[in-house]
Formats: sequence, structure tokens, C-alpha cells
Amino acid sequence: MSVMNDEFRDSFGTITKDGKRNWIFAKKPHGKLYNARTVVSIVYLIVFFALPWIKVEGEPLFLFNLIERKFILFGMIFWPQDFFLFVLAMLTFMVFIVLFTVIFGRIFCGWVCPQTIFMEMVFRKVEYWIEGDAEKQRRLSTMPWNGEKILKRGGKFIAFFTISFIIANYFLAYITGMDNVLLYIREGIFAHLGTFIPLVIFTGVFFFVYWWFREQACLIVCPYGRLQGVMLDPNSIVVAYDYVRGEPRGKISKETIETKGDCIDCFDCVRVCPTGIDIRNGTQMECVNCTACIDACDAIMTRVHRPTGLIRYASENNIKKGEKLHLTTRTAAYSVVLLILLAVLTTFLVTRKDIQTTVMRAQGMLYQNQPDNKISNLYNIKMINKTRKKIPVTLKLEDSHLKGEIKMVGKDMVVEKEAIGDGVFFVILNKDDLHQRKNKIEIGVYSGERKIDEVRTNFMAPVSK
Ligand code: SF4
Ligand code: SF4
Repeated sequence: MSVMNDEFRDSFGTITKDGKRNWIFAKKPHGKLYNARTVVSIVYLIVFFALPWIKVEGEPLFLFNLIERKFILFGMIFWPQDFFLFVLAMLTFMVFIVLFTVIFGRIFCGWVCPQTIFMEMVFRKVEYWIEGDAEKQRRLSTMPWNGEKILKRGGKFIAFFTISFIIANYFLAYITGMDNVLLYIREGIFAHLGTFIPLVIFTGVFFFVYWWFREQACLIVCPYGRLQGVMLDPNSIVVAYDYVRGEPRGKISKETIETKGDCIDCFDCVRVCPTGIDIRNGTQMECVNCTACIDACDAIMTRVHRPTGLIRYASENNIKKGEKLHLTTRTAAYSVVLLILLAVLTTFLVTRKDIQTTVMRAQGMLYQNQPDNKISNLYNIKMINKTRKKIPVTLKLEDSHLKGEIKMVGKDMVVEKEAIGDGVFFVILNKDDLHQRKNKIEIGVYSGERKIDEVRTNFMAPVSK
């Protein structure tokens, strides 16, 4: 989707030819879409800061504890044993992202990506408030250090650092839980140095990203932006300049009004762009679909009494051929794959057990002779309790034609909440009932009268027919 030569694609607008940073002073956007994005970001931030406080049966609603490998999603606890579910969920999410991007381009980046939300809707708003709009920021950056610069830069430093520190605390809350963060605050830095150090590192990283790195995170680090090139096609909806309507661009005057396109070459769309690009060059990897240029151009079009939408959400085929959004073979194929993955994931989630029991015969022992013509086998039991309740466990022999009993070795088995418990037990059967060397048996796992799981295993006997 290009109307000019493609030389601009050879370099980043934010890096000069000699490799130095070309600092972007983006003009503050105004307009319907910016207002809508502000509302979305407020809701987003409320949710982000509220979630760590919400608990389900004493546990956080969401937890991503990588250190203890414990994950809670919507109150459901996931363990390392559920890793395949995690992989499946990630795969489904990736297909969803691909499908979404093929149809809607980078709408995600502009509206809900945390980097854009915090950069454009938090830190940059604070920056506008302290330093003023783009021109004032530019003037401040070039002026020598004086009272005004020290005051503004100092104020911005304190504000950015404080916000980064708050985000880092919440980030930690998503990893260790809000209760632990509050405990660290109550008991002080020195009692929890091991946590305080990562907190300082997180704060430093956030501060660095929002103070200095900024749009470079989207341009250089984020893999999603780079993947865009292979995911978008001429039917994908992106923030696009309508070159059919806009060209040939140029200032309007009485003489040229009939021959010029609608673009009056005012550069307002470039001035507001936080990644420093000119969207009139066509779809570019740097564009995070923030919509600032749409608002800027709509304001200009209104001023010159021309229809708005010269820059708008549109596909290449929409601009070139006037085609509307329609389902292509590619999007249909991705949709089918996504539906299949969703169905598989839902089935696994619905049938996922809160209890996982493993029973294995003790190694190195075949069977033991017992009084009264009985035979016993010794077993080890391991049980993962994924629930939030302590479970007292009793075992029962379920097989109807093999009469016998189960005897725990030592204490009765009780598995603590969200823990792994183990025990040892004997299965004792009548020798006369056993007619083969290897006998299949079924053991029911009960909590009180409720059967919570069942396992099948082998019972070894001395006879063979
Ligand atoms: S804001 Fe609109 S009119 Fe002005 S340069 Fe950009 S596309 Fe052209
Ligand atoms: S080109 Fe427009 S939508 Fe893309 S990043 Fe720049 S201002 Fe935002």
C-alpha cells in the first residue's frame, strides 16, 4: 500500500543515519478516537489494578507464580502437571492472534497492548501535563539547564519513577499474590531483601522503558510488530491513508483546487505520530495503529470542508477497489483451526480433575504371604490435591469378584490443600480367588463417602494357570 518510493523502509524514523536516537516529540492527539481510547484505557487500568485484590476462596483470581510454577486463571489452579493445557491454551491464543491480525491488523496494539496503554495513556499524559505539548517539550529539551528545566524534568522524574514503582508492585502482586506484597510492605525491606531486589529491578525496567526506550519497545523488541509483515494481506483492516482520494497531495488554492487530491500536505498526521512515521507512505511495521493520525486528519478535513476519513481503518482492497470486509479462504481456514483448538481446550478444561492419583507397586517385592491363606501386595500412592481444601483419603477395593481389604501403613492419608501427598498401603486378597499371576484390580479413592478418583493397577499372585 505505497504511493511513493520505498526508501523510507530502509531505516527507522527514530534512528538517525549515524545511529543516534531521533527523539519523537509527538503532538498531543485530540478527537473522537483519542477520547474513546482514553475511556478504554481507564477501564483497562481499573481492571489491571483491581484484579490482584480479588480472591476466590482465599486465593487470587489470577496468579502467575513462575517461581513456584503455580498458575491461577479465573480462580482455577493450574499445576506443572497441567502443562499440556497451558501449551494448548498458548497455541489457541496464538492462532487467535494470527486470525485477529489477518482480519483486523494491529488493532490490539493501539487499543489494549499494555505497552501502548501505559506509554500513551499514562506516562505521555503525565508528560504533557508537566512539560506541555510537543513544541514546549522540544524547546525544553534544547534549553540549557535552568530553574524551569530542573523543575519540570525533576517533577517528571519523580512522577515517572513513582508510577513505575507502583506498576512494579502490582506486577509482583500478579506473581506472588497481593497478600505477600502487603506482608513485604508491613515487615519491611530488610526482612524480604530477596523480593525487594526484583522489585527494584522491575521498577528500573519500567522506568527505563517509559522514560527513554518508549516506542523502541514496539519497533525493535516486540515480535508481534515484526510478524505483521507476514500476517497482513490486502484484505486486512489497518490504519490507512486513502491515497486514491488524497493524491496528488498539495496545498490548495483557487488554481489547484480542481487538480489536487484531498491531502493538503499539512503534516499534522506526522506530527501526532508517536512512532515518527508518515502513514501516507503506506502500511509500515512501525505503525502501532494508535489512531492519532486519523483524529488529526479528520480535524483538518473538517476545517477545509472535505469529508473525514482520508486516514481511516481500511484495507488495501477497500481503498483501491472499494471492496468491503469479506471472509477469505485464509481467514476461513484459520477460523476452522481456531474452533477446533477451542473445542479441544474446552473439553480438557471441563474434564480436568482436581485430584490426580498415581498408584505403583513397591519396587523389588512381588507379594507377601499373610495368615489365613491370604496374599498381600505393597503399593505406593501419590496424590495431587489441586483444590483449596484439605482432603482426608480412604481407599476401597472396587473389584466385585476379588474380595479383600486395603490397609494403610502408618497414619491415615491426609493431603493438604494445593499439595502433593503420599502414602504406602497393602492390598490383601484371598489366595483362593486368585487364578493367575497378574490380576487387574481397581481402587477407589474416597474423601468421606464421596468417590473422588479411581485407579487401576496389578496385583501379583504366586499361582499361574
Ligand atoms: S493530516 Fe491529512 S491532510 Fe494533513 S498531511 Fe496528513 S493526510 Fe494530508
Ligand atoms: S501512523 Fe497513525 S496509527 Fe500508526 S502509529 Fe502513527 S499515528 Fe498511530
